[in-house]
Amino acid sequence: MAQNKEIPYKIYLKEDQIPKQWYNVRADMKNKPAPLINPGTHQPMSAADLAPVFCDELVAQELDNDTAYIDIPQEIQDFYKMYRPSPLVRAYCLEKKLDTPAKIYYKFEGNNTSGSHKLNSAIAQAYYAKKQGLKGVTTETGAGQWGTALSMACAYLGLDCKVYMVKCSYEQKPFRREVMRTYGAQVTPSPSDTTQVGRRILAENPDTTGSLGCAISEAVEVAVGTEGYRYVLGSVLNQVLLHQSVIGLETKAAMDQYGIVPDLIIGCAGGGSNLGGLISPFMGEKLRGERDYRIVAVEPASCPSFTRGKFVYDFCDTGMVTPLAKMYTLGSGFIPSANHAGGLRYHGMSPILSQLYHDGLMEAVSVEQTAVFEAAEMFARVEGILPAPESSHAIRVAIDEALKCKETGEEKTILFGLTGTGYFDLVAYEKYNNGEMNDHIPTDEELAVGFAGIPRFTGNEF
Ligand SMILES: *Cc1c(COP(=O)(O)O)cnc(C)c1O
Repeated sequence: MAQNKEIPYKIYLKEDQIPKQWYNVRADMKNKPAPLINPGTHQPMSAADLAPVFCDELVAQELDNDTAYIDIPQEIQDFYKMYRPSPLVRAYCLEKKLDTPAKIYYKFEGNNTSGSHKLNSAIAQAYYAKKQGLKGVTTETGAGQWGTALSMACAYLGLDCKVYMVKCSYEQKPFRREVMRTYGAQVTPSPSDTTQVGRRILAENPDTTGSLGCAISEAVEVAVGTEGYRYVLGSVLNQVLLHQSVIGLETKAAMDQYGIVPDLIIGCAGGGSNLGGLISPFMGEKLRGERDYRIVAVEPASCPSFTRGKFVYDFCDTGMVTPLAKMYTLGSGFIPSANHAGGLRYHGMSPILSQLYHDGLMEAVSVEQTAVFEAAEMFARVEGILPAPESSHAIRVAIDEALKCKETGEEKTILFGLTGTGYFDLVAYEKYNNGEMNDHIPTDEELAVGFAGIPRFTGNEF
């Protein structure tokens, strides 16, 4: 207990302790994540196959399962200095409120204009595109954090940025859109009539409010069809988890300074990038047999990829224009219920985390959105930060675990990722505050509709 008194509310690393290399957890995985494959031939995608879609250096990172540490270019390190290191916070006020013997820490990634961890990968992807002499990049955005982060990075480097924004978010979050436009991005609601795939999806389903999978199809089509453009993606991919390892490396360095060892690491999981980044160095120790940690992914009950999905090859997008990734998936046609307000809406999951989960190296739980917003409200009131709904999934489970410690008297050390702030999610908070929020858990029959769209071929049975 005495030792804990010395731990400050916030542990900040010094600027020169910002990581100079990313850590690639694949290097320590015995079972590597399955490669992306071509949907026609079912052969692994080579660097040449991926080159029209992604820029060359990012393709190399995507395919690199062996190099443990990859240098962070100086220009990216310099950009990181504008908003990193991010604080590791001891949640003393939350512990007191819960009256728990647990020690709770969170790594806060919301201290930048994008309001989330997404900037860590946006600057890296924009940097490599610029270095290759490209003119611009295209992408999708759901809630808007990724589009904002990428707009910021592109503005900094002088790259064009075309963002396909899921239509319901475009309409619900006009201020997000204006932040992106202020940074110079061109923002189009998706599905749109600017692409073939968008026109096809609209013709089939004129009232659709869009999905991330659909916006990805549009962004990929435009990137592949426009000279000097490539596509970038804010989550799921191996390269994104690599860039996000900066979160975990900083966390580990800060904890090591004070001799703190987490028993339990919790993160929300949409496509898996923040969780993958946070756990990377800890998972590395676990994979090398140096230390054991309990690791928990938290997802919405209304979009339960890990807990109810299939571990198979599936498309990354709705329009079926991307390669196939082996991952936990609900089917690329799956669209969460319209009343789902908590983010984390993607149908699939990072192939790296999928493999780790499949191998029993981490756990997953799903939580309902009213419980998530209850946790968000408690956290906001005692810790001061208005959390993003996505992040609040992790808060929910951290609180539940701390309450279990209260019952058992265990002094566990709990670490969770607080990925961002919720200032643009006030329509969702309004619903919650008005008592109008409810939970939707898809039935097995509803999930079967999504599963029916997963491609079936030899080796991909389920
Ligand atoms: C995008 C986002 C997430 C989910 O994405 P992951 O790739 O799973 O990390 C979580 N929290 C915030 C604030 C986000 O912007």
